[in-house]
Amino acid sequence: MKGFVKWMVFGTVLVWAACNSTPEQTDNSEPEEEVEVSDQYGFVTDSFLVVKDKVRKNQNLSSILLPYGVPYATIDALARASKEVFDVRKLAAGKPYTIYCTKDSTGLATCFVYEPNAVDYVVFNMQDSVHIYKGKKDIEKKTRYVKGVVNSSLYVDLKKLDADPLLAIELSEIYAWTIDFYRIQKGDEFEVLYTENYVDGKSIGVDRILASTFTNYGKAIKAYYFESENEKGYFDAEGGNLKKAFLKAPVKYSRISSGYSMKRFHPVQKRYKAHLGTDYAAPKGTPIMAVGDGVITEARYKANNGNYVKMKHNSVYSTQYLHMSKIASGIKPGVRVSQGDVIGYVGSTGLATGPHVCFRFWKNGKQVDHRREELPPSEPISESSLAQFNSTKQRLDSLILSYRKPL
Ligand SMILES: [Zn+2]
Repeated sequence: MKGFVKWMVFGTVLVWAACNSTPEQTDNSEPEEEVEVSDQYGFVTDSFLVVKDKVRKNQNLSSILLPYGVPYATIDALARASKEVFDVRKLAAGKPYTIYCTKDSTGLATCFVYEPNAVDYVVFNMQDSVHIYKGKKDIEKKTRYVKGVVNSSLYVDLKKLDADPLLAIELSEIYAWTIDFYRIQKGDEFEVLYTENYVDGKSIGVDRILASTFTNYGKAIKAYYFESENEKGYFDAEGGNLKKAFLKAPVKYSRISSGYSMKRFHPVQKRYKAHLGTDYAAPKGTPIMAVGDGVITEARYKANNGNYVKMKHNSVYSTQYLHMSKIASGIKPGVRVSQGDVIGYVGSTGLATGPHVCFRFWKNGKQVDHRREELPPSEPISESSLAQFNSTKQRLDSLILSYRKPL
């Protein structure tokens, strides 16, 4: 039994289980005396050997299944039959799989289950005829709470508190219109109530922030998630929309390498001149987003600008994005885009020393520093949803209180 020796060598998990043909069959509304326990793929634990391992480098379906006695003809049939469901050439190194084998002397594999990600799985059933289908594991949502003070970076501080550091990105999106996350400082405070997704008892990441308070420069801003017929998103304690008309920056992860200035030493031209924009340095290829809804007015190449896009948001505001490595496909004059849509990618075309996006902002036809503008808020909670919003807010507030002072 070559396969068995292999399991011992790699120390993989061995359990007894039955290879059930479909997950539905395990759903027994009136359980017998002997309770059948199904695993995460819906297979009933009984009389089969189960091997758990990970796809190794350069392994494919044949090299995985051949040691378990599966004939070439069957593997070929699997590969062909799976075309509609899952391309077996996409088996990736490091991804987990499970093989269900007979416990007799042949140790023949009768089922192969592959997990392309933490939630989805593909079952290759070879019991009688070849049958391939996809499934999803159960996702459990748990409510979680974290409170802390910014000491180093929000990302690191969250990690230290055993919270998913990606909450930092969620928070930066919720507060994109109200807090400049390039300017959060030591001593800023955060308190977050959120749901997290779990599969097989392991976290697979944040589901959604339900409520949060971020205190920046001593000013606390609350955010409540609310969804109704009329609205969906994050609102402050008074029901005002946290979403303003524009994003604070056109790129998510970047730093300001040069601000708006009437007199700046130009790094390429080596002379002082006005810089009527804000430069955000980011790696080449970083997506550039439209900071608001609007219509594209220009999308082309010009000597100094390089590849650039200009758009008009409304009668008051226009924005422009320079030095793109590439303009996103479909972006051309007349095309309507939404806030957050990718319109191009960071580059250094035109007059630029390194990859960055030069972001320019017009108000009533005049170039202004967007970081100094008071931008208009979008719609607050509607009159008809206010009572519902207030009860949601109360529920979330008392939930937060219960976490603050555990009984
Ligand atoms: Zn610039």
